[in-house]
Amino acid sequence: MKQDLFVYNTLTRKKEEFKAINAPHVGMYVCGPTVYSDAHLGNCRTYISFDIIFRYLTHLGYKVRYVRNITDAGHLEGDTDEGEDKISKKAKLAKLEPMEIAQKYTVGFHDVMQVLNILPPSIEPLATGHVIEQIELVKTILEKGYAYEVDGSVYFDVEKYNSSNDYGVLSGRNLDDLLTNTRSLGGQQEKRGKLDFALWIKAKPEVLMKWPSPWSIGLPGWHLECSAMSEKYLGEHFDIHGGGIDLIPTHHTNEIAQNMAACGKTPANYWVHTNMLTVNGQKMSKSLGNSFLPYELFSGENSILNKGYSPMTVRFFMLQAHYRSTLDFSNDAMEASEKGFKRLMNSFALLKDLKASSNTEVEIKSLFDRCYEAMNDDFNSPVLIAELFEASRIINSVYDSKLKIDAENLELLKQLMNVFVLEVLGLKDEQAAGDDLPQVLNFIVNLRNEAKSSQDYATSDKIRNGLQQVGFQLKDTKEGTNWSKI
Ligand code: AMP
Ligand code: ZN
Repeated sequence: MKQDLFVYNTLTRKKEEFKAINAPHVGMYVCGPTVYSDAHLGNCRTYISFDIIFRYLTHLGYKVRYVRNITDAGHLEGDTDEGEDKISKKAKLAKLEPMEIAQKYTVGFHDVMQVLNILPPSIEPLATGHVIEQIELVKTILEKGYAYEVDGSVYFDVEKYNSSNDYGVLSGRNLDDLLTNTRSLGGQQEKRGKLDFALWIKAKPEVLMKWPSPWSIGLPGWHLECSAMSEKYLGEHFDIHGGGIDLIPTHHTNEIAQNMAACGKTPANYWVHTNMLTVNGQKMSKSLGNSFLPYELFSGENSILNKGYSPMTVRFFMLQAHYRSTLDFSNDAMEASEKGFKRLMNSFALLKDLKASSNTEVEIKSLFDRCYEAMNDDFNSPVLIAELFEASRIINSVYDSKLKIDAENLELLKQLMNVFVLEVLGLKDEQAAGDDLPQVLNFIVNLRNEAKSSQDYATSDKIRNGLQQVGFQLKDTKEGTNWSKI
C-alpha cells in the first residue's frame, strides 16, 4: 500500500498526509441526492469525483466502506426550516404517494450512475429508514443541553454551542460574521437565535411524510439524517466525509455541530469537497434553471447543446478538471474532450497488437511512478490524464515502429493503462465493449423525431413500439425526447 497519499482537508484548509484511523479499513460518507427530481449533470460531477477517490483508495489496498445516503424526506424547499418537504410537494402535485416519487428518482439516479460507470456505494441508507436513529440523536442533543423545544419543534442552539465550540470551524467564519451576513432559515418566531436550525419539525396538517416522536408528529431536519446514518454505519469518528462545496456553510457545518454536541467528536478526520460544475460561470442548479440532465447530454436534446456525447466522453470531460476547481460546461470543451478521449482509447486498443523488441528505447517505470504521484497529490486526475497521453504517445510510436520497447516494459505499459484508465479513472472503451448503444439509440430517436416532424406518424409509432419491444421506453418532454430502459 502506498502511504504517501495527500488529501486537501477543508477542515484544516491544507493538504495532509492521509492516515486511516483503522487501516486497512477506511470509512467514507458522501451526502447523496435528494430524490425529488432527476440528478443533473452538476450532481453527477460530485459523484464522479468521489467515485475516483473510492476507486483509488481501493486500488491502494484500503478496504473502503463507502456510505452514500438517499435523502427521501426532510429536505425542505429552499433549504429552510419552513418550506414544504421537496418530495411531499412533488407527490401532491402529481397525486402520487411521496414514496412513489422517491422510488422513481432513486431508480433514475441508479441508472445514470451505472451509465457513467460510477460504482455503487457499499451502503446506501435512506433517511426514511432511519427516523428512529434520528429521534434518538435529537434526544441526546437535548439531554446535553444544546437544543430546546418550542411547540413540538426542536431547535439546535447555535450560540450556546459556539460558547464552548467553534461553530464556523469548517467554513472558517466566526459567529459574529455569520450572524451579520447569514439569512435566516425560517421558523424565526420560535427560534432563540438567528442561526438556530431545526432538528425536529412539527408537521403542519397538510404535510404527507411525518412520524410520531416525543415532541410532535413531525419530520426530522435535513442535517440530522447524515449525522445519524454516518454514526450508525461508520461510527462516531471515521475517515472521510464529502459532498459538494455548497454543503459547507450550512449542511456540513450543522452536521459537525450535531455530532460534537451529541458525542464530543467531529464526525470525520478529512472533509473533502468538490467544486461546482458551472454553465457560463454560474453554478449549475435546478433552482437557477440552468441545469440539464445527463441523458440530454447523451442525446444532444437540449437547446444549449450542439450535439450528443457518449457517457464515457462526459466522464472524461469531468476528469479533465481537478475536483477542487470549478469546471465550466461548454460545447467547445465537450468537443475537445471527445477528441482527447478517442485519442486515448484508440491507443489503448493498439496495445494488444504491440510487438516487443529485444532492446528498449523507453523506460515505463518512471511514467508509472508519475501516475501514482499525480493521484497521491490530492487525486489530481488532470495531471494523471496528461501522463496517460504520454503513455498513448509511446504506444502510437511503438505501433508505427518509430520506437522500440522490450517485453518487460511492454508488460508494464499494459499494466499502467489497465490500472489507471480502467480501474482508477473508470473509463471504458465504449466501442470495444459494445457500449456505443447510447449513440445508436440517439440515432434511432432522431430518426423517429424526423418522421414525426414530417407527420409520418406510422413510422414514428413503429419506431417507438419497436424500441419498447426490445426494452427501451421513449419519453417526449418540452426539451426533446429521452430514452430509458424499461
Ligand atoms: P442535491 O441532490 O441537490 O442535494 O445535491 C446532491 C449533491 O450534488 C451535493 O453533494 C451537492 O453539493 C452536489 N451538487 C449540486 N450542484 C452541483 C454542481 N453544479 N456541481 C457539482 N456538484 C453539485
Ligand atoms: Zn448530508
